[in-house]
Amino acid sequence: MKSVRKSKSKGKPQRPDPHELEGDRVDHREQLVNEGRSGPVELVSIPADMVTALLAIMLDVDPKFIAPELIGDGKGTVGFRLYKQLVANWLDHDPLFKKAEVRHSGTGVHVLFRFDRPVEFQSVGDRQRWQGVVKAIQSAIPTDPTAPGITALTRPVGSTNSKNGKVVKVLRPGTPVTADEVLDFYGRLRSKPFLTVARLLFGTDRVSPCPVCKGKGRNLAAGDRVGHCYGGCGKVGLADLLGTFMTQQPGGED
Ligand SMILES: [Zn+2]
Repeated sequence: MKSVRKSKSKGKPQRPDPHELEGDRVDHREQLVNEGRSGPVELVSIPADMVTALLAIMLDVDPKFIAPELIGDGKGTVGFRLYKQLVANWLDHDPLFKKAEVRHSGTGVHVLFRFDRPVEFQSVGDRQRWQGVVKAIQSAIPTDPTAPGITALTRPVGSTNSKNGKVVKVLRPGTPVTADEVLDFYGRLRSKPFLTVARLLFGTDRVSPCPVCKGKGRNLAAGDRVGHCYGGCGKVGLADLLGTFMTQQPGGED
């Protein structure tokens, strides 16, 4: 058996230029807390108890959790279509959400509410309160249910996502929000969860046809805490409403 090793005698081996291969700031992340630093994830990721100020809130909309038929297979990347078909409409339905910045992370979209000034935590209680606010707002639209709250990291604009080589881009520039605007939305979400989410997702209190049973002539009327589909699927909960946008989750609740 002959072993042929030509490479050694054929001059320089072909070595790709690592910069060309990797693009710019591969898989860097950007903090949305404290100094808002960008860099490799191991340098900018910090535990919640080291967070002293919140700069922005992030909602991670990952196509992996969204029903593929709603994203469609037209022009552009999955993330771009996800934004055009769904996320852009949700944002346009609410005065707070209208102010969000949207980034194409390479796979999905990051919806960012950037504060006009940092929300400083004076105590552990402050931080816990804001952790609750952030988690609640993240669950107002169909986001990645496993995403972190105040410690969430976005990807810096212009950096490269190594999963697919895509460069992170702004799809929609945002305008800063005040802490009061965020707390006002949070208040609406707590007192009228179903109504607030229905308005955000559908832009109306009466959705026709009912998105849950999709029955002909069946309407979903949004109440404050639940919805009603008369003559159709009956009482509808918040999870059912959000579920109409999501892929089937194992062991889904009712
Ligand atoms: Zn129904």
